[in-house]
Amino acid sequence: MQRIALARRPSGHPVAEDFALKTDPMPAPAQGEVLIEVTHLSLDPYMRGRMDDVKSYAPAVQIDGTMTGQGVGRVVTAPGTDFTSGDLVTGMTGWASHAVLPAAEVRRLDDALPPSTALGVLGMPGFTAWTGLREYGRPKAGETLVVAAATGPVGSLVGQLAKAAGLRTVAIAGGAEKCRLAVESFGFDSAIDHRAFDDASSLRKAIAAETPGGVDIYWENVGGKVLEAVLPLMNVHGRIPICGAISWYGGTEDCADRLPAVWRSILVKRLSVNGFIIFDHWGNFPTFLQEVSPKVAAGELSFLEDIAEGLENAPAAFMAMLKGGNTGKQIVKVAN
Ligand code: NDP
Repeated sequence: MQRIALARRPSGHPVAEDFALKTDPMPAPAQGEVLIEVTHLSLDPYMRGRMDDVKSYAPAVQIDGTMTGQGVGRVVTAPGTDFTSGDLVTGMTGWASHAVLPAAEVRRLDDALPPSTALGVLGMPGFTAWTGLREYGRPKAGETLVVAAATGPVGSLVGQLAKAAGLRTVAIAGGAEKCRLAVESFGFDSAIDHRAFDDASSLRKAIAAETPGGVDIYWENVGGKVLEAVLPLMNVHGRIPICGAISWYGGTEDCADRLPAVWRSILVKRLSVNGFIIFDHWGNFPTFLQEVSPKVAAGELSFLEDIAEGLENAPAAFMAMLKGGNTGKQIVKVAN
């Protein structure tokens, strides 16, 4: 079997030397365990955090350990379990061609939809969008929502769910092509290319022009320049679900000097600002699937996937995704 290991801890943005492709003997499942041949692997921004040895909501990957990640694949053998060879399943396989997991940590997939959807629109990112918008965005018809990384799996579903709830939706995305996709594939009312603006104040003018009634929900995915641009546009009693802050994941930008201004805005505008981590909400996952799967199957909700070929190309796809190189949910096809 092959796997991608963490070779060393990155300093700032990861580089190729931080990863290593390893070949190990094929693992054998014990009673109650499942041997999975991975076909598709999910690449997610949170994995950047796992590469640092810092206290967080989940443990760091150890040096020479397999990079953490969710995969889908087929059962090879599963002694003493309800799974049989060939079953389509998902679990935390890591960046690997094969994985052995306890049966209780493996979920059987409905094969009516492409299995890769279990990693994006019908997986952790989609569930994040659905949960955060309901619980912390609390959308009301007639309001305005702004979201960045708008063509990614989280942002694109946030936008579509908000639009369906009767909101005006404004996408922030990197580049003209992603802006076109945001409007044409995901139904955003307008889209703004954040890369076309050098500073927060010029980006703010562009966002203000598309949000004449102000911003009621700013879905925070990126932090940095976009946050600085949007914050002064927030309406009184606005909501900011803090889902991610990818522009700071490299750890190179110091934002401490801006904190007092941000803090004051939260007071003056009486904003509800909620950080959330989706792992706290898994109990609602079946309800999410029940509600969202039929809409995806019927084509009422769109999704976009960017598929890299081959496990050995996972590090390059991951490094590119952190800088916006992906168009849609980043997946690696590991096997047929
Ligand atoms: P995406 O597939 O959207 O990939 C990340 C995107 O971030 C890039 O494509 C790029 O889009 C954008 N980006 C990167 N750098 C910058 C920057 N400096 N400024 C603005 N945008 C940038 O990711 P996901 O949909 O999977 O995740 C979106 C966010 O949600 C992430 O921050 C992630 O960490 C977070 N998340 C949080 C969870 C939680 O439990 N709280 C769970 C899941 C995800 P573009 O080219 O359009 O700028």
